[in-house]
Amino acid sequence: MNKIKITFPDGSQREYDRNITGKQIAEGISKGLAKEALAVEVNGDVCDLSLPIEQDAILKILKWSDDGGKEAYWHSSAHLMAEAIESLYPGAKFGIGPSIETGFYYDIDLGDHSLTKEDLQHIEEKMIEFSNRDVPYIREEKQWDDAVDYFKKKGDQYKLELLEEFKGQKITLYHHGNFIDLCRGPHIPSTGKIKAIKLLNVAGAYWRGNEKNKMMQRVYGVTFPSKKELDDYLFALEEAKRRDHRKLGSEMELFLLTPKVGSGLPLWLPKGTILRESLVEFLRDEQKKRGYQTVITPHIANLDLYKTSGHYPYYKDSQFPPIQLEDGEAFLLKPMNCPHHHQIYSVKPRSYRDLPVRLAEFGTVYRYEQSGEMNGLTRVRGFTQDDAHIYCAHDQLKAEIKATIELTQLVFSTFGMDVKIRLSYRDDKNVEKYGGEAVFWEQAQREIREVADEMKLDYFVAIGEASFYGPKVDFMVKDALNRTWQLGTVQVDYVMPERFQLEFVGQDGQKHRPVIIHRAPFGSLERFVGILIEHFAGEFPLWLAPTQAAVLPITDAVSDYAKQVFDSLKASGIRAEFDDRNEKIGYKIRDWEMRKVAYMLIVGEKEKTNGTVSIRQHKKGDQGVVRMEEFQTRILENIKTRALTI
Ligand SMILES: [Zn+2]
Ligand SMILES: [Zn+2]
Repeated sequence: MNKIKITFPDGSQREYDRNITGKQIAEGISKGLAKEALAVEVNGDVCDLSLPIEQDAILKILKWSDDGGKEAYWHSSAHLMAEAIESLYPGAKFGIGPSIETGFYYDIDLGDHSLTKEDLQHIEEKMIEFSNRDVPYIREEKQWDDAVDYFKKKGDQYKLELLEEFKGQKITLYHHGNFIDLCRGPHIPSTGKIKAIKLLNVAGAYWRGNEKNKMMQRVYGVTFPSKKELDDYLFALEEAKRRDHRKLGSEMELFLLTPKVGSGLPLWLPKGTILRESLVEFLRDEQKKRGYQTVITPHIANLDLYKTSGHYPYYKDSQFPPIQLEDGEAFLLKPMNCPHHHQIYSVKPRSYRDLPVRLAEFGTVYRYEQSGEMNGLTRVRGFTQDDAHIYCAHDQLKAEIKATIELTQLVFSTFGMDVKIRLSYRDDKNVEKYGGEAVFWEQAQREIREVADEMKLDYFVAIGEASFYGPKVDFMVKDALNRTWQLGTVQVDYVMPERFQLEFVGQDGQKHRPVIIHRAPFGSLERFVGILIEHFAGEFPLWLAPTQAAVLPITDAVSDYAKQVFDSLKASGIRAEFDDRNEKIGYKIRDWEMRKVAYMLIVGEKEKTNGTVSIRQHKKGDQGVVRMEEFQTRILENIKTRALTI
């Protein structure tokens, strides 16, 4: 047979001559696709467009919009950078040069020379010159000995060391222009596709990550198919720096991370605590309306409790080691609130009339994260979940899932965040990763999909993203910087009721197992606040703002009246500050503007005489003069309704 069958992503199939290439297939589909094509995915592997396809295959032409396309593009950019570096610094030696989440790097050894900012600019210019030549990336198979010969002649001990691992095997080299690299590929067709280039920075990196080895220079860069995309990216990068919650958190005195307490263990400063408690109060109010009961549980528990749940030793690597007492008893810092709540459910016999039982707790848990993985509030070792467990009869499950999804949607719409919904299923090819029986899994997966359909949610299904005890509904949230975060979850669990022998007496007088829903809209308060700080760039809606108004007397002579205004705000529950510093009013205004306070109430002789205040709003400036009572009513209404804008 000299024909092969190709299946496309939309399920359509076509026959082609054997050894056709991805490039030829793309050309056959459309000129536009052929122009945009960067690589090809054949049976799940990303390959060069020029690679002959020998057998029937599932095939996808990869463009810039595909992850695989970007990876090949950025990795090819690393080769282009290496070529530029080699031409500017003859004798340069190269380690590895992979693509990363955004962009690429290459580890290089330039002997004594440390690259400066100006050097990076020169390399960038050289890269543009080389990309303009638009030469192809060519794959070449070599015998192992020949590859060794080449790098021996070149004197690149790093590549020789890498080659040692492939002794006797066929080696692939890629070359373009004047540069040859040891590489598995894949690569994009030619250098000309790399249009916009920015080298971002240089960092030290030990060869192969081992501190006994030589320190190389790791050059980071990013490239795009157009200048506009590069500019947008660089702007977003600056914007992310400006909004960085670690920077704002310290400037606005929200939280503190100090090695004296321990990494990943944030301290909430008074202002940050106001922010956090406002979130807690918001959710607590909503939960009360929905029949939740609040509980409180301790921060450590007997290790056996987690053996029953399977959290130990199942999640051993992400927990702090057990605390072993002399009498043999062992405790674990609580990694999960669930088993505690299951005990509360079991405190007395339950009847079908009691269900659903909805237990909620802002419960602090501790997880062990590698020190290198911690990041401000978004990756920590101790955090508080807005956790709840709903114990219900099977015929109540769908209504309860629906209610928890609605609550989670309400939470994110309150912050003006766009939500995508992911139904996370288990991977049937890896059943050993999950607890419970197949029938329950199928049932639970079917039920969450039915609810999603009934609610007409716009969702997608992800195989292999379930938790170990059940499928989930995950809320993927987009923030103001267009980054996606996995925040809230709703999880269905048929496993823990078995493990903990949870029961209720049904209408039939028989004992039954309840189903559990685990849910947490914010997920972790720490992480959520970190994301909120960046989402709002520190300019919070009034109901969250640690300081809602500042009262600024113009002179000492009106200080009594200003104090009256301040007291009245305080008495009505508005978080106000009184600025009677002996400074010029212009200075005070600038200062409060910097601190991002929503309202400044400026008080002079005229205001005192008329019982008014002069309003200045953050970023908007002068808002005119209003009667004190009017202002108060207006902002109290804004706070009460948790309005998104001021
Ligand atoms: Zn390569
Ligand atoms: Zn749970």
